[in-house]
Amino acid sequence: MDHSLYFHIPFCKRRCHYCDFNTYAGMENHIEAYMMALIKEFQMVIKNQKLNIHTIYFGGGTPSIVPSRWYKQLINEIKDTGLMRDNCEITLEANPGTLTVRYLQELNAAGINRLSLGVQSTNTFDLQRLDRIHSVDEILANHQNARRVGFDNINFDMIFALPWQDLPSWKNSLNRAITLHPEHFSLYSLIIEPGTPLFNWHQKGWIEPQDEDVEADMYEYAIEALSVSGYEHYEISNWALRNKEISFQSRHNKQYWLNQPYFGFGAGAHGYVNGIRTVNTPGIQDYITRIQKSSPELLEYPSSPAAISTNHVDVSTQMMDTMMLGLRLVSEGVRNDVFAERFQRTIHEVFGEKISRLEQQGLVEWVGDTNQRLRLTHRGIFLANRVFRKFV
Ligand code: SF4
Repeated sequence: MDHSLYFHIPFCKRRCHYCDFNTYAGMENHIEAYMMALIKEFQMVIKNQKLNIHTIYFGGGTPSIVPSRWYKQLINEIKDTGLMRDNCEITLEANPGTLTVRYLQELNAAGINRLSLGVQSTNTFDLQRLDRIHSVDEILANHQNARRVGFDNINFDMIFALPWQDLPSWKNSLNRAITLHPEHFSLYSLIIEPGTPLFNWHQKGWIEPQDEDVEADMYEYAIEALSVSGYEHYEISNWALRNKEISFQSRHNKQYWLNQPYFGFGAGAHGYVNGIRTVNTPGIQDYITRIQKSSPELLEYPSSPAAISTNHVDVSTQMMDTMMLGLRLVSEGVRNDVFAERFQRTIHEVFGEKISRLEQQGLVEWVGDTNQRLRLTHRGIFLANRVFRKFV
C-alpha cells in the first residue's frame, strides 16, 4: 500500500483578507525550532514502520518563506529511512514574490519536483483587495524563474467568484494564466469565512457573496476554456494537462480522494492511517513544546505527541467517505471492484437504493462494462454537494 506525507508550514508574511487557514504572520523567529520539531515528529511516528512513501507535500501557510536547507534536511531524513520511492512526488506550495532563482535552485537540488504556486488571480485589483503579497509581474517573473531552473510540474492555485468580480474579469484572469501553460490548475470559488476581513466587510454591508448563477457561469467557463487548452478535468476543482506519457494529476491529492492513508505532521495537520484520523494541536508554540517534551516509547502508532484528537473511523463511515471523496474524481469516479475488494461488499449492495434515486435525477451514472465505475454526470458536478449529502 502506498503512503503519503503532509507537512504543514504555518508561517506567512501577512494574513490575506480571505484566509482562515491555520497560519501565523510575524512568527518567523519560530521557524528553526518548528522545523526541528517537524523532523523529530516524523522520526518518532514513522519509526520501525514498513511504508511505501510515494508522495510528500509541504503545504501552508507559505512554505516558500522557510530556508531551503530545512527541506533538504527533512527530505534527506525521509530518504534515510529507505521508505521513500524513487519517483516520489514532492510538492512545495510557494507564493509568487518569494521565489528567487537561487532559492528555486536550492529547492530543486533538495528534491522538490512539483511547485504549487498561489497565483489566485492575474488581475491587479483582485490581488490588492485579497491583500496578497504579490503583484501580477511577480507571478510572471517567479513562474519564469521556476521554468528556468527546470521545474516541469507546476500547479496554479486560483480563486473565482470574488464579490467584486464579473464574468469578463474572471475570463481575463484565467486566460492570462492559461497562456503560461502550467501543468495543473486548482480553481476554488471564494467562501467568505467568519473571522476574516472579508467577513467583516460583508457584515458591514460593503460586499456580498457572489451570485450563485454567476459563480456557476464562471465555473462552466473554466471547464470549457481548460478543455479547449488541453487540460483534463479530473477532479471537481482540478485540471491536469493531458499527456499520453506522463500524468500531471496531483498524486498527493489523489491519495485523499481515493481515501488512502496519509500522515499529517506539524501544527494543525490532519492524518489518516490504519483507519485512524488524527488532528494535531494548531498552535506553533504548543506544537513545538509537545514534540520537544515527548519520548518515542510512549507513542501508539500512528498517533503523534502533538495530536489533540485521535478517532477510529468505523467501516460504514469509511465506505461513505470513500464514496464522497471518490465521486470528486469526475472522470474516474469510484470503481466498484476496488470498493468491493476493500470492503467485501459492492457499491450496489451498500448504496444501491440511494444511487438509483440519484440516477433518476440525472446526477450520477455508471460507466465501463467490466470495471464498473460510478461517477457524477455533468449536471451532478454542479450539484455535487447535494449528491454527497445522500451518502451521509
Ligand atoms: S498566503 Fe495563503 S495561507 Fe498565507 S495568509 Fe494568504 S491565503 Fe492564508
